[in-house]
Amino acid sequence: MTHLERAEQLLHQQYHCSQALFGAFADDLSLDIKTAFKISTCFGGGMRQGGVCGCITASLLVLGMALGFYDSQDRELEVYGNQKTDEFIKRFTEAMDGKTNCRDILGKDISVPGDMAEIRKEGLILKKCPQAICASIEILEDMLSQFLKDKAQESINLDVVLESAEFQSAMKRISKLHRFRRNVNKLLFSSDKKIGFIQFDIRKFKIVNDLYGERFGDEILDFILHKMGETCHKEQYFVNLRSDVFLMVTEYEKEEELLEFIRKLDSEISSFKNVKLQMSYGVYTVEDKNVELRQMEDRAAMARKAAKNNILSNIIFYKEQFKDNLYNRKFIEENMQTAIAGEQIMMYLQPKYSISKNEIIGAEALVRWRHPERGMIFPNEFIPIIEENGYIKKVDYYIWEKACRFIKRCMDAGINCPISVNVSRVHLKDDECIQVLSDLISDNGIPKELLELEITETADNQQVSMKALQLKDEGYTLLMDDFGSGYSSLNILLETPFDVIKLDKKFMENMMVSGKGRLILEQMVLMAEKLHLGILAEGVETKEQVELLQNIGCDQVQGYYYAKPMPEEEVFALLKEQNL
Ligand code: C2E
Ligand code: CA
Ligand code: CA
Repeated sequence: MTHLERAEQLLHQQYHCSQALFGAFADDLSLDIKTAFKISTCFGGGMRQGGVCGCITASLLVLGMALGFYDSQDRELEVYGNQKTDEFIKRFTEAMDGKTNCRDILGKDISVPGDMAEIRKEGLILKKCPQAICASIEILEDMLSQFLKDKAQESINLDVVLESAEFQSAMKRISKLHRFRRNVNKLLFSSDKKIGFIQFDIRKFKIVNDLYGERFGDEILDFILHKMGETCHKEQYFVNLRSDVFLMVTEYEKEEELLEFIRKLDSEISSFKNVKLQMSYGVYTVEDKNVELRQMEDRAAMARKAAKNNILSNIIFYKEQFKDNLYNRKFIEENMQTAIAGEQIMMYLQPKYSISKNEIIGAEALVRWRHPERGMIFPNEFIPIIEENGYIKKVDYYIWEKACRFIKRCMDAGINCPISVNVSRVHLKDDECIQVLSDLISDNGIPKELLELEITETADNQQVSMKALQLKDEGYTLLMDDFGSGYSSLNILLETPFDVIKLDKKFMENMMVSGKGRLILEQMVLMAEKLHLGILAEGVETKEQVELLQNIGCDQVQGYYYAKPMPEEEVFALLKEQNL
C-alpha cells in the first residue's frame, strides 16, 4: 500500500488529517499505528484553533523523526532541521496555492461548534483535506528520497533510524517509484503512440510464502524484477509497487501488442524453481493523457483486481464499470451520515416460526436503507463497506434502539416477543456495545431476555468467544449466526456460551439435496440437543424443507416460506392477530 493509499484509508476511518498523514508513515518510522496516533494527536493541536493545517505539523514530525534532527544539543542538526522545515513549508504553500491554515483549506473553522457540525454534515474533511494530505505526501516522499541520495553521496554514516533495513528499503522503494513516475510522465507527454499500463501480481502469493517461506517469496520477487529487466526495452518502464504487485508502462500501437507482451512476460515468469506461479494482469489503455497519473495507476489496479476474481482469463482490460464500483463505495461512504439523520435507515423484522405450533416465536431485526433517489439498498451492499470505516456501529445502535422500542411496544400490548439483533464483528473489538445495550435496556424498561444477540463466527473466534462470554455474563441470549457458512468450527460451541445455533441458509440449500446432507443435519440437531442448545434453520423456502426439518426434530425456522422481512407495523399486526 502506498503512503497515499494508507492515508486515504485512515481518513475514511475518520481519523483526522494529522493522524492519517503521520499514520501513513508509521511503518517507515518503525512505529506501531497506535503509538503513531498518540504522537500525532499531541502535535496535531495547531488546527484546533483553526490555525495551521494539521498536515504541516504531522509532516514536520515525519521529517524530524526520519531525518533524525531531534537532538537539540547539536547545532549543525538544528540548522539543518530549520532548513528542511522551511523547505517543506515553502513547497507546501506553493502546492496549496498559499492556503496553509485549516480554516482556509476547509472553508470552515473547526474550533467553532456550529462550523464543526457543518463540516461533519457535509463530509468536508473527506472532500477537502485529501488535497493537503496528497501534497504533503508527495513533498515528503521527495524530500526523504533526496535526503537518502545526499547522504549516500557524502558517504557519511547514516543516523541510527536510517540504518534500519526496513527504513532503507522503504526509502529505496520511494525513490524508485519517484523515478518511475517521472519517466512515465515524460513518456506520456513526449510519445505520439498509445500508452498502456499493465499491473500484475501473483495469485495466492501469501500461500506460496507460507508454504515455502518468506525468503523463497523474496527470491521470486527478485526473479520477476530480473526477468522484467530482460523483457523490457529502454522506453518501457516498470516498478515493484509493493510486495508482489508490479506495474509496467509501455507504448503500443495495437492492443494485440500489449497482449503479446504480457504472454511473453508470462511465459518467462510463470515458474520459478519448479514452483508454478499464476499471475493476474490488469491493463489500462490511456485515452486521455490529462488524467492524473495516480488515477491511471488506480485503473490498472482495478483491472488487476477484476482479473484476480476471474476464472476464465487472467488478463483483464479496465472498464468504466470498475470505476462505478468505486463510485458506489464512495457514494455509500459519503451518504451514510445523512442516511441516519434523514431517517432513511429503517428496521425490518422477519418473523421466526415454530413449525409444530405454526406460530410466531420471535423476529430478527434487519436493516434497510431507503435512499430518496436510489431506492432500497440492501445490507449486503453497504454493510461490508461501513464495517471497514466503523460506521456500522452507529447503524447497529440505531437498529438496536428500534428493536428495543418494538419490544416495549409489544409488551405494552401484552405480548412478549423476543427480537434478535445482529452484532457486527466490529463491536467485538471494544466494550462500548455493552454499555450501549445496557442503556437501551434500562431506558426502554424491557427485560434482557427479550433482546437476543446474533453473533457471526469470524476468522478470529477467540475474539468472538471473549465478547460472547462478557455478553452472556450480562444476561443476554446469544445466537450463533450463519453456522455452517464459513469459519465454522465445532470448538466454538464448546468454548462459547451460545444459547441457539442458527443454521445458515447455504447449509439448507446444500444439505437438503442429498442423503448425506440430511444425515449431517440430523446429527447437528442431535448434537445441539446434547449440548442443550436451541437450533433454528434459516432460509427455509419450501414445504419439503419444512417437512424434512420437522422429521429430524428441528422446530424453529425462519425463511421466505413463512414470512419475508417486513416493516415493523406488519409484524405487530401479525402478533396481535396471533394473540387474540
Ligand atoms: P443474516 O443475519 O443471515 O440475515 C438473514 C438474511 O437472509 C436477510 O437478508 C434475510 O432477508 C435473508 N433471508 C431470510 N429468509 C430467507 C429465505 O428464505 N431465503 C433467502 N434466500 N434469504 C432469506 P438481508 O436482510 O439482506 O441481510 C443480509 C445480511 O446483512 C444479514 O444476514 C446480516 O448479516 C446483515 N445485516 C442485516 N441487518 C443488519 C444489521 O442491522 N446490523 C448488522 N451488523 N448486520 C446486518
Ligand atoms: Ca442474522
Ligand atoms: Ca444468518
